[in-house]
Amino acid sequence: MCGDPDRAPGEWHSEDYSEPFSFQPPESYPLCKPCHGRLHKRFNAPAGEWELFCLHLESGGYGSEFVKRLTLAERRDLSQHLASGEAVSLARVRPCSPGPHWWQTLTLDPESLEAPWARPRPLRERPAAEDYATAMLAIGLSDTEAAILRLHAAADRRTLSMRAIAKGVLGTDKPYAANLAYGRLAARLTEALGWAPDRRADGTPVWMSAVAEGWYPPRREYEWTMVPPLAEAVVNGDATAERSTP
Ligand SMILES: [Zn+2]
Repeated sequence: MCGDPDRAPGEWHSEDYSEPFSFQPPESYPLCKPCHGRLHKRFNAPAGEWELFCLHLESGGYGSEFVKRLTLAERRDLSQHLASGEAVSLARVRPCSPGPHWWQTLTLDPESLEAPWARPRPLRERPAAEDYATAMLAIGLSDTEAAILRLHAAADRRTLSMRAIAKGVLGTDKPYAANLAYGRLAARLTEALGWAPDRRADGTPVWMSAVAEGWYPPRREYEWTMVPPLAEAVVNGDATAERSTP
């Protein structure tokens, strides 16, 4: 992150630990210890402190110089300014690349530590968008199924609960109705794709794994995040295009 030439070797940070694992950017980055520590602590840091650290790096500072450059009181004061939306500028320490840098756009939402929508790739590799498109055409979607897929692909972060899908497409707030309809669709897609679904501890297939990754968010119902290649196929494809009624 800071380009410190004296960083201890062997320190790596992975932003994307999906399969297949990669030690190359943008999946993994070599970091110095102070940058690595700040990166992980940003979720619980005082408001504005991560932004202040980023400003320090943008001014050419090394991670290890942050606490030497600014006293604790100064860091608190400047962090508060940043948190309340005021501009803070730090004098340039040494020349550095103007960016954009990958660490400047990282989220501070702690849900991103667990949520599938925060991952650039699904944990397990999924079929390609073209394969999804072919499979959807092969199984022939009903209007309801096409509507479910469209709603899910267009949702914020491609993420919805089964209740939201039931409300949005099936005219009921009963999650099991969506579970049933979406599960059947996912099972047929799994077969058409020739894909091996995730399995529960008892060996039964999780059909929904062909279309989405699920997770339990804090204080909300279980949510499903549509995998990116399927969302791409739904948004661009013929199989899910809205049909005009004759
Ligand atoms: Zn660093």
